[in-house]
Amino acid sequence: MTRLRQCWFCADETTATRHDRVVGLHRDVESSPTWYLGVRTKWQSISVRVPRCERCHGGHVIARSMLAVSIAAPIAYAAGGELDTLLGIPPSTSADRVHSVIWAVVACLPTLAWIAIRQAWLPWRRLAPRPPRHARGHPAVQRLREDGWRYRPGPFPHWRNAKDPDLDHLSGPSARPRRILGCITGLLGLASVVVTVVLYLRDSELAALFLVIAFGLFFLSSKIDPEV
Ligand SMILES: [Zn+2]
Repeated sequence: MTRLRQCWFCADETTATRHDRVVGLHRDVESSPTWYLGVRTKWQSISVRVPRCERCHGGHVIARSMLAVSIAAPIAYAAGGELDTLLGIPPSTSADRVHSVIWAVVACLPTLAWIAIRQAWLPWRRLAPRPPRHARGHPAVQRLREDGWRYRPGPFPHWRNAKDPDLDHLSGPSARPRRILGCITGLLGLASVVVTVVLYLRDSELAALFLVIAFGLFFLSSKIDPEV
């Protein structure tokens, strides 16, 4: 049985629930000391599944990947020694400087692309018209906020909270290891992007190989991680 729902991000109709954006909320945080001198924190958590279509889901993944690349590019730029040339350490010729300035512009391009994607300035059909944060404006989320629920699935530190308390039984007991593995694969992909750029700047032919590896790892990561 399929039920038509409206994508909260673009208002198109969608049937699949696997593209939903999950918004986790929490409240009633209680911290109590334990006998071994630690602190145990308990809280209630709840999650709202905001309908999202396949296109908007894909668009959000593209935006997130572009953010990763825009972080990797300046790191690769500096690691490739171009920053030193730009700053004149060691003394460099003006031709080298021009080369470095051009690469500095290239290193900033992913950041510009990310901003443009996030602000929905690009007329590309596959991008989402609204960022993932737009899910917070959903009426179901707003109702819970009025009831005293706070954003995020748990209190600080947020990276230790499971994104969706329902996810474990949604995806089976394998969800947590898969999440961790997906995250590691994604980070390795990011590292490969950095290596690719460094090798490219050093005119190494291995750059192409690392680029392929990076894309392979990102693809794997998207298949492994149940939340992407
Ligand atoms: Zn949509």
